[in-house]
Amino acid sequence: MKDILTAPFLTELVRTCTNMYAHGWDERNGGNISVLLEEGDLAEYLDLRQVLRAIPTGFSAPALDGKYFLVTGTGKYFKNVQYDPALNLGIVRLADGAQRAELLWGFRDGGRFTSEFPAHMMSHAARLSVDPAGRVVMHCHPNNLLAMTYVHDLDEKAFTRTLWQMETECIIVFPEGVNVLPWMVCGTNEIGRATAEKMKTARLVVWAQHGIYGAGRDLDETFGLIETAEKAAEVYLKIAHLPWKQTLTVENLHAIEARFGVKAREGWLD
Ligand SMILES: [Zn+2]
Repeated sequence: MKDILTAPFLTELVRTCTNMYAHGWDERNGGNISVLLEEGDLAEYLDLRQVLRAIPTGFSAPALDGKYFLVTGTGKYFKNVQYDPALNLGIVRLADGAQRAELLWGFRDGGRFTSEFPAHMMSHAARLSVDPAGRVVMHCHPNNLLAMTYVHDLDEKAFTRTLWQMETECIIVFPEGVNVLPWMVCGTNEIGRATAEKMKTARLVVWAQHGIYGAGRDLDETFGLIETAEKAAEVYLKIAHLPWKQTLTVENLHAIEARFGVKAREGWLD
């Protein structure tokens, strides 16, 4: 068996947690990430018959039965992940229609996965239904997107339009826009189901007065989505209270679509 601490899927997640903490998106134990792993990749590092313990999930997601996830731990701090991955991260295999998670590695202190596990797993199922290559779900609390949910209309189309107008690249990076959930209590199956429903039409779902969920095919794509939306939100907050002399117009946005071969979400650029 190879040393799992050298596995690319693990080192990349460790680097991502460290980077997100450095961006100020994951204060204290804020934020969580889950990555869908291939059994073939994992078998080089772990004996997959060796289940350390079983953890009930409290929900069911038959589409994820038998799938493997690398996931951050509940109550754990992103800033500490790099110093002790086996304490702060875990690898689980879902069983019984995802009602049970079999721990194969990590959570060394008897811990368990993030309290947002339902939202993560239901989002994975939703993304896989529209993009079979989906692998990553990421949640964090970026300052400017969070602040924007206090002062901007939460209508998804209006919220998206503002982000698209704040930087030329935005409509290229997330042409499907961002979906927005009104404030809900976090950590529940209800917010998990609501997030997953929103994930069917966009890779970014803003949680009002809380943070954001991103989904993608790898950690770079997912991080980049959140990074780009967060930058746009920062520009918005820098100028929202100032008189605007100009902005990106609908015509400009259509010109970007034409030049870069992207198509904005149907009806959102009317
Ligand atoms: Zn959160």
